[in-house]
Amino acid sequence: MAALTWSEARRRAESVAVESYTIALDLTGPGDFFTSTTVIAFTARAAETFLELAAEDPPEAVLDGTPVPASAFGDGRLALRGLGGRHELTVRARLRYSRDGEGLHRFVDPADDGVYLCATSSIDNAKRWFACFDQPDLKARIALRLQCPPEWTVVGNGAATREAPGTWRLAQTEPISTYLVTLVAGPWHSVRGEHDGIPLGLHARRSLAAQLDRDAPGLLRLTADSLDAFHELFEVRYPFGEYNQAFVPEFNWGAMENPGCVTFRDQLVFRSRPSESELLARANTIVHEMAHMWFGDLVTMRWWDDLWLNESFAEYLARRVTPRVTGLPAGPDFAAARKSWGYAADRRATTHPVAGNGATDARAALDDFDGISYAKGASVLRQLAAYLGEEMFLGGLRDHVRSHAYGNATFADLLASWSACAGPGTPTGADLSRWADEWLRRAGVDVIAVETGARAGAAGAVDGPVLRRHPPLFGPAADRPHALSVAVLSGCAGESANRETWTRVVLGGEPIALPAPGPGEILLPNAGDETWATIRLALDHWERLPAVLAATPDATARAAAWNALRTGLADGLVAPALAARAVVAGLPVELDVVTARLLPWITAALPVYLAPGPERAAALAAVADATWALLTGAAAASSSQLTAARGWVGLTEDRETLRDWRRGAEPFDGLTVDDELSWLVLERRAALGDLTDAAIEAAYAADRTASGLVHATRCRALRPDPEAKAAAWAELVDPASALSHYQLSALAGGIWVAGQEELAAPYARRWFDDLPATAAFRGTMSLATLAGLCFPALAVSAETLAWSEAFAARTDVPSGLRRTASDGADDLRRALAVRTAAADR
Ligand SMILES: [Zn+2]
Repeated sequence: MAALTWSEARRRAESVAVESYTIALDLTGPGDFFTSTTVIAFTARAAETFLELAAEDPPEAVLDGTPVPASAFGDGRLALRGLGGRHELTVRARLRYSRDGEGLHRFVDPADDGVYLCATSSIDNAKRWFACFDQPDLKARIALRLQCPPEWTVVGNGAATREAPGTWRLAQTEPISTYLVTLVAGPWHSVRGEHDGIPLGLHARRSLAAQLDRDAPGLLRLTADSLDAFHELFEVRYPFGEYNQAFVPEFNWGAMENPGCVTFRDQLVFRSRPSESELLARANTIVHEMAHMWFGDLVTMRWWDDLWLNESFAEYLARRVTPRVTGLPAGPDFAAARKSWGYAADRRATTHPVAGNGATDARAALDDFDGISYAKGASVLRQLAAYLGEEMFLGGLRDHVRSHAYGNATFADLLASWSACAGPGTPTGADLSRWADEWLRRAGVDVIAVETGARAGAAGAVDGPVLRRHPPLFGPAADRPHALSVAVLSGCAGESANRETWTRVVLGGEPIALPAPGPGEILLPNAGDETWATIRLALDHWERLPAVLAATPDATARAAAWNALRTGLADGLVAPALAARAVVAGLPVELDVVTARLLPWITAALPVYLAPGPERAAALAAVADATWALLTGAAAASSSQLTAARGWVGLTEDRETLRDWRRGAEPFDGLTVDDELSWLVLERRAALGDLTDAAIEAAYAADRTASGLVHATRCRALRPDPEAKAAAWAELVDPASALSHYQLSALAGGIWVAGQEELAAPYARRWFDDLPATAAFRGTMSLATLAGLCFPALAVSAETLAWSEAFAARTDVPSGLRRTASDGADDLRRALAVRTAAADR
């Protein structure tokens, strides 16, 4: 089915204005299909246009009383001719429920057979459940009517009214974009509240009722506090009536910012004890989605190339508001969880500017929901806020939201809003425009390096260490000015100089002299995590980093050091064994929310950069031992106890102890092996070849839930057994597979496991041969996610690299696969370089 291109969208925006959609859905029929009838009121300035509808058969369409011929429908588009002036079009179609989380997704709860529907329209999936002009700048008012089973509850963008058992009406909305239209329907368990005149609703599956009730007071309080924070920040009230938050099953994204009804993945209603990291991530997601109500929903980008106007701002605003409404350490978490993601994206060949990513069609736009559009954009906005000053920064945001309410706007409009707020002593419009060019319209990441000794001396008349800016190893030079601090950190506890002594510099093209560090000390640029750059320590300082991490009390400086270490590993400057030693040394002092990010990273990274063999085994064992030490020393029932337990389970090869960690057991005071921890143990045992099929079946029988089903599915694929791998692969490429996207993800993620490289080897080549054909029967997002999960990242060889490069150059494959192959090639190239260097030592 054709994806809408940017030029088509521009043409259509000039020729059509949409007033309203009135959508009627009949959800009472059995089977895989439902009926959707949409009445569209619109005005046309051109004689011809088209709308989108993902129907398998031509719909019944009537334009101003005249039937539209079936021949007008093809490739998911309905051609409309003879237009001019105001029109009313009715389109009635039989459409298929989805199982991949895109469009109108249907889920049957294994716990109680309850049926739940959730409509996800983003990015271009509204057409999978109603006929529409599916582009962000054709906003319209939306009203819905539904026929459904009588016991169902319905929630959507507009306030819902139950007119009779099984008959629902959703009030007409303010003008919104089609990608924001949603609907959730099913026997939901709901908790209602109210804050400052805004009706609040929380919704989850019946089988999660107890967990939702447990979390509801905290969630409602967080929602209320966040609404207050945004009212104060934007000086515009929440504009969409009710604020419902629905935790829905089998949701692909973390959440989706549909006005009036935000949808979240329902793993966020924790069925087992959460760690502090999970609580913080959930709070951050709630705040992020709420920020979109203003940035994204009330004022919407014109086209997907300005995606950052949605995501960078929501990420930035969440980073700003979350610590205030939770009291949790959001700064180090942002560095560990988000910036590391952005740096990984920015060092690849697919890097792009934050602003104007150049998305040529709606499907390719999905590729840019990456660490650059979120984390880098948010980091750059932090710099901008500091550069403009609070008054000008917020003044511009407020002006933007007021000026373009219920409409669309571009980056140029936002710059105009900021310029309008310039005053004496603030940057001018021209300054701002130059700044935007450097930071937002230019791709790539600068390297900021500390250089000592001969290298620094050779470059000029500077003695002692200098700070110097370089272009990245690969990719374009960014050449940005950086405001940052440089800290002297010591490897002896209590001896690192405090923040008052940090050197604050603005680094441009000229090197800056730095004070010489003492023995065992390092110079850490970006110690306050102020800027966006690849940080390089002096060559002889990397070895000192483990001791420094253990002795540095400043969590922000440590967070910056961890990102320097992670990038240093990827760039071949830090040996994998040194990275492992740094984690071992740093764990005892690190914040729990950071540890929760570090352990999965090092567990995944070591097998990539170290070939199977004694060095890999030793590095992993050292981290496992350090995690065990953390676990045994943790306070009873603390979050760090839970984080350490999870980390250890993911690393250990101690089958015997794992067997003792049965569901319900209490291996440590305050640590109960609850449902989720128990599955983590079972997954590890499966990967170690210590779990039979019968044991997996028994575990699922004891936990017959949506989550249990996914875990059991993953366990099957994880087993070190050629048949297990073959079965998983067969399911992944089967057009007739009945499995949900979640189950397929579990299979895809279970194929490549460290230590099972030989077993999985056949599925390296098959990735390139088999996956393109799956695009014919898979949603865009599902395709890209699955491709990433089963990419042969552990098949580190020149051959896999060559296959990846050749695939990335193909033009006959979907962009999501091409992007995965290109990013995979980058990562393989780095892994090969590190492994080759190790072999040469
Ligand atoms: Zn977002």
